Amino acid sequence: MSKGNLFIVTGPSGAGKGTVLGRVMPSMEDLHYSVSATTRAPREGEEDGVNYYFLRKEQFLEMIGQGAFLEHAEYVGNYYGTPAGPVDECLNKGMDVVLEIEVQGALIVKQKRPEAKLVFIIPPSFSDLELRLRSRGTETEETIAKRLEKAREEYQMADQYDYIVLNDKVEKAADELRAIILASRCAVGRRINLLR
Ligand code: 5GP
Repeated sequence: MSKGNLFIVTGPSGAGKGTVLGRVMPSMEDLHYSVSATTRAPREGEEDGVNYYFLRKEQFLEMIGQGAFLEHAEYVGNYYGTPAGPVDECLNKGMDVVLEIEVQGALIVKQKRPEAKLVFIIPPSFSDLELRLRSRGTETEETIAKRLEKAREEYQMADQYDYIVLNDKVEKAADELRAIILASRCAVGRRINLLR
């Protein structure tokens, strides 16, 4: 059986990555969402083991020491990381895996796994991004400013991405992401067995 594909879905905070993935994940078979670990406090409604594994800083640092992360990054004062074990288990079973991570981590994964597809999700405009961040109502002014600054840096790195998904309408953006995943499933490497 051929291995699954790894998709790194990234983009500025407020671009709607979570919303788009919320449409795509339940609509496709054999697609695994990688649950990250973080030291950030849970937001209202977030569940441990579902949205994130919420860890204390010492626990997170211990996992780094054990080499348990495929990548990890510090983002606006908290640590975030992708546990490597479940990702490889799923890929080896032939499932596709989606990581929803910020850009630093995305570039680390792309370096380690050049075959991974890097998808950058953007909102229609920068002012739209600011609006979306504010309307969440979960972030302080300082955090919003930091997140916007990050977004500017991330836009500079466009040459490193494989695909750009435009999130002007969620359903359209979800279609674009599904198309990217479906196309990769038709690649010769994945289908060569059908010719034997
Ligand atoms: P939030 O605090 O809004 O949930 O996430 C902040 C940023 O961290 C988002 O851009 C999110 O995609 C990213 N993120 C979530 N999990 C990971 C991870 O495991 N690794 C990295 N590098 N970034 C992550």
